[in-house]
Amino acid sequence: DPRIAKISSAIRIIPDFPKPGIMFQDITTLLLDTKAFKDTIDLFVERYRDQNISVVAGVEARGFIFGPPIALAIGAKFVPMRKPKKLPEEYSLEYGTDKIEMHVGAVQPGERALVIDDLIATGGTLCAAIKLLERVGVNVVECACVIELPELKGREKLGGKSLFILVEGE
Ligand code: IMP
Repeated sequence: DPRIAKISSAIRIIPDFPKPGIMFQDITTLLLDTKAFKDTIDLFVERYRDQNISVVAGVEARGFIFGPPIALAIGAKFVPMRKPKKLPEEYSLEYGTDKIEMHVGAVQPGERALVIDDLIATGGTLCAAIKLLERVGVNVVECACVIELPELKGREKLGGKSLFILVEGE
C-alpha cells in the first residue's frame, strides 16, 4: 500500500532517548502530518470495519490517540487501558514492574475487542492488555500497532494472538 511509506517517513526517530542505545520512535510528528495521520487511521478502519468489533481497547498513553478515531469509525466503544491509580474501581493486572487497569463494567463477557497501541517492543504491554480483557470474558480479535520493533520478538509473547502493524522500526 503506497500510504505505508509516507506513514513510515512521518515517524521521527530520536537516537539515544530515553537511554543510550534506544532509537525512540516518535509518533508525534506523524500527528502533525494530516495526510499520514488520516491514512494511519484509515488503514486500521479498512481492516476492522466489517469484523463485528464492539470494543476498541487503547493502551495508555498513545493508544488513546489512535484508538478513539478508529472506534468512532467502526461503531465500537473506546475503553482506556490505564496505568495504575487513575480509576476509582478497576480490574488490574501486573506485568513485570508495571501494571495495567481497566474500568469495572466497561466491557461485557463475549464482546469482540481490538487492542491498540502505538508500538510493540517486548510485547509485555499488549500481553497484559490481552490477559486483562480475557479475564473478564472478552474475545480479543487482534492487536494492532502503528510500529513493531521486530528484533524484540514481542509478537511471540502474545500467546498466538494475531498482530497487525503498519511499519517496522529498528
Ligand atoms: P513493550 O511492552 O515492551 O512491548 O513496550 C511497548 C510500550 O512501550 C508501548 O506502550 C509503547 O508506547 C512504549 N514504547 C516502547 N518503545 C517505544 C518507542 O520507541 N516509541 C514509543 N513508544 C515506545
